[in-house]
Amino acid sequence: MTDTSTSTPASDTAPTARRLLIVGPPGAGKGTQAARLAEGLGIPAISTGDIFRANVSQSTELGVLAKSYMDKGEYVPDSVTNDMVRDRLAQDDAREGFLLDGYPRTLAQVEALDGMLAELGTALDRVLLLEADDDTVVERLIARGQESGRSDDTEETIRHRLHVYAEQTTPLVEVYEGRGVLRRVDGMASIDEVSAALTAALQG
Ligand code: AMP
Repeated sequence: MTDTSTSTPASDTAPTARRLLIVGPPGAGKGTQAARLAEGLGIPAISTGDIFRANVSQSTELGVLAKSYMDKGEYVPDSVTNDMVRDRLAQDDAREGFLLDGYPRTLAQVEALDGMLAELGTALDRVLLLEADDDTVVERLIARGQESGRSDDTEETIRHRLHVYAEQTTPLVEVYEGRGVLRRVDGMASIDEVSAALTAALQG
């Protein structure tokens, strides 16, 4: 076992951020990168899209409702989404850190999340913006739709999701930039390069 008693005192090095959000357009690679990053840090990756899809495949009441929005490329109503995230963040495994993927996605959700985290006595310490251009993400998502059969990965729905992202989610960038927690990472590089850049963006 390593003797940590002589290691650098925590006050000398900035701690790695552990309350995280990854944001970016559909197809930027958030899910892939979130899973890698969360595993490396030993924190849960919390993807609202994944939670909705799990509910859709189990045909729960929540799933039936969510599907009607997801298939059109629309956002599921905040009232439903916020409650779902509040429950998830209250679970034990999220106490020491978490990586949110795909939530918050609207300014109203930012406000709701701020409230939830304040109740838990904490706040986001880093927001990672994964940047990718529209043509690349459309190409990637069409390929993903053909491979996985994800019902919202058709060209028409993809274009609509990008439009909804631009309209409803890009305003979040300014908010988190204003709070000094935003870091931009180029999502067009290779998977390993993006992972390395994301990890670096958690320091300092
Ligand atoms: P994603 O897997 O993050 O691309 O999400 C897939 C779909 O799930 C989205 O197009 C929305 O319909 C829905 N969804 C996921 N996260 C949210 C959210 N935070 N707010 C509203 N809808 C969401």
